[in-house]
Amino acid sequence: MTAFIQRHGRPPGLGVVLAGHSPASEVYVRNKLKTVAAAGCRAELFRLDATAALDDALALVRRLNGDDTIDGILVQSPLPDAMGAGAEQEVFDTIDPAKDVDGFHPFNVGLLVQKRARLVACTPLGCVELLEREGIALRGKHAVVIGRSDIVGKPMALLLLHRDTTVTMCHSRTVDLPAIARSADILVAAIGRPGFVTRDFVKPGATVIDVGINTLTDRAEVERLFAEGSRKRAVFGEKGSVLIGDVHPDVDEVAGALTPVPGGVGPLTIAMVLRNTVTAAEQRKDGGRAI
Ligand code: NDP
Repeated sequence: MTAFIQRHGRPPGLGVVLAGHSPASEVYVRNKLKTVAAAGCRAELFRLDATAALDDALALVRRLNGDDTIDGILVQSPLPDAMGAGAEQEVFDTIDPAKDVDGFHPFNVGLLVQKRARLVACTPLGCVELLEREGIALRGKHAVVIGRSDIVGKPMALLLLHRDTTVTMCHSRTVDLPAIARSADILVAAIGRPGFVTRDFVKPGATVIDVGINTLTDRAEVERLFAEGSRKRAVFGEKGSVLIGDVHPDVDEVAGALTPVPGGVGPLTIAMVLRNTVTAAEQRKDGGRAI
């Protein structure tokens, strides 16, 4: 960071747009701003009211596109329902691709498909970082990705494919999902269903990446999923809610490695926001606009 400041006379700058007051989004945004600022970047929050119109969001993004001290723009999702269906994509499409630290702009998605990505979606990027840092072999291995969203499942599959992994993508219409999942050396769950992946989905010794973040507040659901005396039940007893991934914690007994929730993919995602901010800043400085 010091080198960047010495070269360019200012730190990399990230602008985060938050519309409305969703408690979960407030937490995510606070963590992102804190991490990016702690690393020495300038991190600025731009708030929009919950009643703001789509045009207000688009105008703010265009203003940040034109601000030379802002290298990265991140619009926290979800946007308020009042902005209408399709608002999110329109906002993502409006972000300057050179400042698109979330990697959601179609230009950046296209570059990823062609294996010449500049800015890649932070969550799948964090998952790959985690696999590589842990020394998990990828080449020639079979990965099964459950979930095909634009922000997690699809970019995850592409990143694995580009590392010579053989990838199978699964979704809600996949037939005999547990059997396919059981053939995976690396299993990625990005579904949004608490504890969905159970032991019978997992080949002994497989590496399991749990992307899901689900908050359980229903006692009956907690009691259905977790045995008496378990840690998750204890947390629920204390707080009245408990965080759980898409993978049941019992999978730990059969997997070779399993990312925890909380504390697994989430922090890596935030670290990748920082990395993408610095990448965007360097690319913009090295060649004017990266694109
Ligand atoms: P989406 O809702 O956009 O996508 C969910 C995917 O799961 C869809 O492709 C859907 O299939 C598939 N799916 C749903 N039900 C089933 C089922 N019964 N069997 C097989 N596949 C199913 O979710 P996201 O990708 O945005 O997020 C997934 C999870 O990851 C969520 O829990 C989210 O909170 C979490 N997340 C965590 C992040 C982090 O930083 N750790 C960041 C982003 C997300 P279909 O396409 O057929 O509907």
